[in-house]
Amino acid sequence: MKTYSEYMREFFPDFKVQKISVDAGFSCPNRDGNIGRGGCTYCRVDAFTPAYCLERGSVASQIEAGKRFFARKYPDMRYLAYFQAFTNTHGRDTALLRSLYEEAASAEGVVGIVVATRPDALPDSTLDLLREMSRRLPVWLEIGAESSHDATLRAVNRGHTWHDVEQAVERASVRGLHCGLHLIAGLPGEGDSEVLESVERACALPIETLKLHHLQILSGTELERLWREGKADVRLYTVEEYLELCVRIIERVPERIAIDRFLSQSPPGIVAAPRWNLKNYQFANMLSARLKAR
Ligand code: SF4
Repeated sequence: MKTYSEYMREFFPDFKVQKISVDAGFSCPNRDGNIGRGGCTYCRVDAFTPAYCLERGSVASQIEAGKRFFARKYPDMRYLAYFQAFTNTHGRDTALLRSLYEEAASAEGVVGIVVATRPDALPDSTLDLLREMSRRLPVWLEIGAESSHDATLRAVNRGHTWHDVEQAVERASVRGLHCGLHLIAGLPGEGDSEVLESVERACALPIETLKLHHLQILSGTELERLWREGKADVRLYTVEEYLELCVRIIERVPERIAIDRFLSQSPPGIVAAPRWNLKNYQFANMLSARLKAR
């Protein structure tokens, strides 16, 4: 299994890198009516906004705040500007996108940019802009796929299909952009076999990274309402079950693809279920012990 830090060392052999989340004020087409309203049923965007970018300033000032946050521990660290919140290619013309990405790319210590987006929010003009930027520094696209099963995507109101994912990855990778996909384990109607199918389909595409997490039901979401009413056929993994699934996933992911992470823990106060009370590093240690034992 190739870890994300091993993958990063292929790009930056001389120093460690850390992602700094940037909230550049993007919206989401699945919330603002361009594709849908209400968003994905499980989504609560404050779940993925770190404390250092809650008071949103300019892109440059957020990167500075992120650097102050991380530099206390690792003074020699370099950074990837991570356009994370919402859909970071949506709703802005090419000139404005360019200025936001350029502001990040030109910040001192930034050695690459990571743009999180949806597969249906990548027009040619945006991909061409990112290709142009990638001649100066590495550019990663992190595309939310979540599942390869269209019935699941419909059930959670994703507003796109698996075919959209395949097309987006192909169009980005022919431009030399580094692509990663994001999947969620436990979405309505899915069990281990559906998740593993999605992993295999994802790995058949020209991606370089895979990012996974188990489904968490967050308070205040449509999914929470459905779940409390007994209308959401979700798979709420125990730690033990999810560890086993991760091992089976690792067996299926080819060495050329790095696994970015298996866990994304939302702030405990907003998680309705499952409540693991585990830190990411604790889960990583458990997984590593299980892999060694096998
Ligand atoms: S998960 Fe992403 S695409 Fe879905 S509503 Fe939230 S921000 Fe939008």
